[in-house]
Amino acid sequence: MSSVQVYFVGAGPGDPDLITVKGRKMLEEADIVVYAGSLVNPAVLAVTPAGCEIHNSASMTLDEVIAVMKAGVEQGKKVVRLHTGDPSIYGAIQEQIDLLNKLDISWQVVPGVSSFLAAAAALGQEYTLPGVSQTVIITRMEGRTPVPEKEQIRSLAAHQTTMCIFLSVHMFGELVQELLDGGYAADTPVAVVEKASWPEQRIFRGTLTTIADQLVAAGVSRTAMVIVGDVLAREYEQSRLYAPEFGHMFREAKP
Ligand code: SAH
Repeated sequence: MSSVQVYFVGAGPGDPDLITVKGRKMLEEADIVVYAGSLVNPAVLAVTPAGCEIHNSASMTLDEVIAVMKAGVEQGKKVVRLHTGDPSIYGAIQEQIDLLNKLDISWQVVPGVSSFLAAAAALGQEYTLPGVSQTVIITRMEGRTPVPEKEQIRSLAAHQTTMCIFLSVHMFGELVQELLDGGYAADTPVAVVEKASWPEQRIFRGTLTTIADQLVAAGVSRTAMVIVGDVLAREYEQSRLYAPEFGHMFREAKP
């Protein structure tokens, strides 16, 4: 038996097939699951065994979550903490890990498919197009969780990279203002993917100045990813990696 007592598992963006094989295995063997009910698709829980104890963390405090984990571990039960997407992105796992360390409870993180990647898949979009952008910024607007002054969207916008903005679609007007103030041109393309990989997924496309009306008219929900950047315009240089005259470790250049 493995010595890991608590698994933090990335549930993926919604589609229950977009969990890793390992994450699914952990769920199949779980005695207790604590899942982030506001975002995790409950369909992901379908593989848990009969009798598995399931807790929705949406209505729990951090201490309550830890208490459930601790009680389970003390009874030799296998505990899974299920987070949406990948646990490392806005997952609030650090504080759980620190408390488990204090309790001498062993843990392991099983990564997941983050929603910014599911959004790229939905759009059929590469975020890193040669000659356009080779950098992806993952960020958010400040909400109740503060964002350090030096990484306000308006400063990040100076780079005009591809930007994936989480947790912000409900502040879309302010977001656009920040992006424009920071240096993106008014006609910079924007895509919003709502509930990427869920059956009800919706895609909206426009520019920084045109897309807001569409989002309002559609009544877009909070579970949406905002993607900004010229990569969405699809004008780019082809990758050198597959160019005939470009040799590398595994292929000789052709004249
Ligand atoms: N750990 C998660 C992010 C949690 S923060 C991950 O890796 O994806 C919650 C935010 O993620 C939401 O406000 C939304 O911006 C985004 N999000 C989560 N699931 C999404 C989905 N299926 N489609 C689009 N955005 C999603």
